[in-house]
Amino acid sequence: MRVLVVGAGTMGHGIAEVCALAGNEVILSDISEEVLKNAMNRITWSVKKLEEKGRIKGADEVVRRVRTTTDLASAAKEADYVIEAVVEKTEVKHEVFKVLDENCRDDVILSTNTSTIPITDIASVTKRQDKVVGLHFFNPPTLIKLVEIIRGEKTSDETVKKTIEFAKSIGMDYVLVEKDVPGFLINRINIRVFIEAIRLLEEGFKPEQIDAAIRYRAGLPMGIFEVVDFSGVDTVYNVLHEVKKRGFEVEVPDLLENMVSEGRLGMKTGKGFYEYSGFYARAKISKDLAYSVNPIQILSPGVNEAAWLIRNGIASREDIDKATVKGMGYPKGILDFADSYGIDKIVTILETRKGKTGLREYEPDPLLKEMKDAGKLGKKTGEGFYNWKYEQIDFGPVRYEKRHNYAMITMRRPEKLNALNEEMWKGLTEAFRRARMDDDVRVAVITGEGRAFCAGDDIAVMGSWKSFRDGVEFFEKIAMPLVEELASYDKPIISLVNGNAFGGGMELNMFFDIVIASEDASFAIPEGLIGAIPPLAASFGYAIFGRKIAHYALTGDIMDSKEAKELGLVDVIVPKQCLEDAGIEYVDKVCRVAPLSTKAIKRSMNAVRQLYRNAIELAGKEIELLIPTEDFAEGMRAFVQKRRPEWRGK
Ligand code: NAD
Repeated sequence: MRVLVVGAGTMGHGIAEVCALAGNEVILSDISEEVLKNAMNRITWSVKKLEEKGRIKGADEVVRRVRTTTDLASAAKEADYVIEAVVEKTEVKHEVFKVLDENCRDDVILSTNTSTIPITDIASVTKRQDKVVGLHFFNPPTLIKLVEIIRGEKTSDETVKKTIEFAKSIGMDYVLVEKDVPGFLINRINIRVFIEAIRLLEEGFKPEQIDAAIRYRAGLPMGIFEVVDFSGVDTVYNVLHEVKKRGFEVEVPDLLENMVSEGRLGMKTGKGFYEYSGFYARAKISKDLAYSVNPIQILSPGVNEAAWLIRNGIASREDIDKATVKGMGYPKGILDFADSYGIDKIVTILETRKGKTGLREYEPDPLLKEMKDAGKLGKKTGEGFYNWKYEQIDFGPVRYEKRHNYAMITMRRPEKLNALNEEMWKGLTEAFRRARMDDDVRVAVITGEGRAFCAGDDIAVMGSWKSFRDGVEFFEKIAMPLVEELASYDKPIISLVNGNAFGGGMELNMFFDIVIASEDASFAIPEGLIGAIPPLAASFGYAIFGRKIAHYALTGDIMDSKEAKELGLVDVIVPKQCLEDAGIEYVDKVCRVAPLSTKAIKRSMNAVRQLYRNAIELAGKEIELLIPTEDFAEGMRAFVQKRRPEWRGK
């Protein structure tokens, strides 16, 4: 096929290279010989680089397939397919399309790479409006293997079909934009997310805080401000103004206006949202800042825009997610993010923003409201933008929810601070077992309802033991099955510690793989204070934390999240309002590891745990020995009466 690419600038030369690499003959046309020479140099350099890296063979042949011309009319006569990529000016596009229409064969499709001009407007100067279509590449086309195919008002099905075939033939994936709306698909979503990020800056957040949340939590390769600094603040600003002119409802933030007028245009001027020492220098963004703002706060206006696109029949949910992944580098589609965090959360964020700013653009789309009202909240109810595998079972006070690829296990005895009575031990054992047996479930997440994670063994139960045998039976029949289950668990367990984790509640965390604690969580192993011992912490805990654990076991001192992190029990500390979201994000992180690797890693770690089995059993015997003593009885009495035990000073 002979492809004519009109305009040999930033985009044109890249598009020409992509077409030539796919085996097409390419005519590259521009009004400037200088630009054409430059374009050929860049293509040659790039193709040679690909050959050096072993990605292609025959670089010279590829380059030979491209020829250049300033004679558009003659080139048009030879073309089988045309891609226009000239400057973004309506009058220039009109002039070019007139020449193309007069000189191309009647059956030739004329596509345009415009970002902001209506396809219908460009088509209007031709006599083949059914054969004019949007074919929107991204910069650089050699790396971003996705195009938006945009239907103008008169574009025929046949033209769309042929354009799809053409896109595929040059190795591009595609998304369909069924109506010629300003910003098409990707820019509409990008603009919403970017504007939200800027508004947060205006409210006092720092670019590093927003980009840290986006990079380290949402998992995007670059932060939002990093991308804009790289693309050019003025470029984004211009697109914004253009789409606004065409009816895209958006208020341009003052901060952006100021940056453009002050020449803070990003990397190219050494200063944008960040300062740069050289062109390819990367901004330094600390992981410690990642929990200042929730990623879903920044993404919510983008989800709202996506809902608008779906409701208006402009793009499908699958294409929206494909576009965000392939075109924008998201680790998963924006609608998948929405279903993971929860549609209810998104609607609340948008309504709060609307209340605060008074801006209409925050009005939640009717589709989102409808979903919320119908309980289609995403993974946590089994249906959102997509259908998810879901089940909910209550094992006594323990709620088990299968949320597609992970299990949410919630201890629900908030009035008793989720203390471990017989039903709780058994419920946890059953819930963890269910999660382990279900092949869909990759990760188990555990948390507590109310203000505590788990206050430990239910002292009322311990106090009711009449004999030594009662205690032994409780430990062996009720508690040990859970310990055994967790000690050989072959799936990752994420713990979300939402408040106090005392005694057994603290000790269970030693078996969990990633412990995320809210800032106000606290931990303690105060069993000694009531005449018992913390059997797991005193044995296995001593093996994993070393003698640091002695301090807490021998004094019963409470540690805050920071101390628990220093001890090595807690991995991440997050503000309370981020806890659930952090858990959701860690599920994604853990699921990026190959399933078989995960199991192999867990099995290997469990083998090490087994080495301490003896010590755990001995500690179990120690507690059994304590049960019949007067110290234990006194400790229980004192606890029930809420007073200090009498053995102090013995
Ligand atoms: P550019 O300024 O780098 O290149 C435009 C080229 O068009 C120049 O080389 C110019 O000499 C040439 N030109 C001007 N008038 C011409 C004519 N009458 N005939 C032939 N050539 C002519 O611009 P660009 O960034 O490559 O953008 C080109 C198009 O691609 C625009 O429509 C833009 O909106 C779109 N686009 C740009 C990007 C991007 O990131 N740069 C991304 C997607 C789409």
